[in-house]
Amino acid sequence: AAALVPTLLGMPALMQNTTRPGAESGGLPPALAAGVADALARPAAQQPDYPDPQAVADVRTTLERMPSLVLPGEVDRLHRRLAEVAHGQAFLLHGGDCAETFAGNTEEHVHSNIRTLLQMAVVLTYGASLPVVKVGRIAGQYAKPRSKPTDDLTLPVYRGDIVNSATPTPAARVADPARMLQAYAHSSASLNHVRAMVDSGVADLQRVQGWNQNFVRDSPAGERFAALAAEIDSGLRFMSACRADHSALHTTEIYASHEALLLDYERGLLRAGGGAAQGGPERLYGLSGHFLWIGERTRGLDDAHVAFASMLANPIGIKIGPGTTPEQAAEYVERLDPDGVPGRLTFISRMGCGRVREVLPAIVEKVTATGHRVIWQCDPMHGNTKETASGYKSRHFDDILDEVKGFFQVHRELGTHPGGLHIELTGDHVTECLGGARGLDDAGLVARYETNCDPRLNSEQSVELAFMVAELMRG
Ligand code: PEP
Ligand code: MN
Repeated sequence: AAALVPTLLGMPALMQNTTRPGAESGGLPPALAAGVADALARPAAQQPDYPDPQAVADVRTTLERMPSLVLPGEVDRLHRRLAEVAHGQAFLLHGGDCAETFAGNTEEHVHSNIRTLLQMAVVLTYGASLPVVKVGRIAGQYAKPRSKPTDDLTLPVYRGDIVNSATPTPAARVADPARMLQAYAHSSASLNHVRAMVDSGVADLQRVQGWNQNFVRDSPAGERFAALAAEIDSGLRFMSACRADHSALHTTEIYASHEALLLDYERGLLRAGGGAAQGGPERLYGLSGHFLWIGERTRGLDDAHVAFASMLANPIGIKIGPGTTPEQAAEYVERLDPDGVPGRLTFISRMGCGRVREVLPAIVEKVTATGHRVIWQCDPMHGNTKETASGYKSRHFDDILDEVKGFFQVHRELGTHPGGLHIELTGDHVTECLGGARGLDDAGLVARYETNCDPRLNSEQSVELAFMVAELMRG
């Protein structure tokens, strides 16, 4: 079925027309096109070796002609929500697959991931007594940075479905630019579904709270959280008795995000927007998603990814690992938030539970001293990956929770806002991360270890984490 998608979109026909006016600049105003060309002329880590550069250019031209996946107005609205996070008046919850896959992009999967994100959000809203901005790792999270260019079989490494196939054969690992069109089609299908879910009332608070009541009933940890869940319940009953019937009780906003890793794809979805209608010059939007981030492996200060992101009007994230220096962090602020716009830049800290308390404080202090209002978000997943005795790449729930605790401690001590969580999760009942209330052990991982890349919290582990973080927030 995946192979049908480009055919359905009529890609071969569209790809023939590469000579339309402005094709060289991707239809962008000359000044913006020149800036993009300058950024992309810099060294870019983690890009595939495509055997046929003309085929890549043709795909990019096709992407430039397709409707953008998201709109500038939506991106701007998210920006306003994130400004509230930066000011300590909201919390940012980010979650979804490590790597989306074409075959795994089913209605059931999209549904269960969004459901899990919403369940966590309700608990965190109550815990923080703040609005929670919800962002999925969804509708574009198809490109993966890898630590080695070849795998254990000495084949070219799998770089995500947008580049090549995970199937371990030489032919399947050849980078195929047509996969960018499939990724576009899959992203548009999942975005369409998410928008329809939100529209049709899936995010109704009463319904989400019902799912959380089921969690409390079914989880071995349920008893511990029953009181908190009951408090949320009585809060909802109180509002209903007051006939408080604000639309926020029945619907919500869900935004899409991914790592802006594959530059040919991202470039194809650049559009000029804003502009005269808003009384200013046209700005450059990356319309492959609302929020885009730079990964730990591609954050070289003078490299293409940082230069590219610096040009975008989107809110931008940057992953920072334990090797990040305070000076580097201040330099990221300078380059990625030159105008000092609150919420423009999110530092996604992924230090590992053993390092966060030691490494993060100096970074936060240095950035705070710049006067810029950034968002501090904790990714407690990527610094805590270990190989188990039986050879699985996994993460222990206790380490994940411990990193979150360390992150909150650091911000409490410095008086800064612990603004968000960034979690790899799925609503499916996978067995990829160790621990949690069911005490999943190494021998249990084999049952449903399904990720194509990093291990994700399953639905129960995710909601359990949200309850624990809510407890932390309430002191
Ligand atoms: C990821 O978010 O899946 C990822 C690869 O993270 P990092 O860049 O922090 O390693
Ligand atoms: Mn990952």
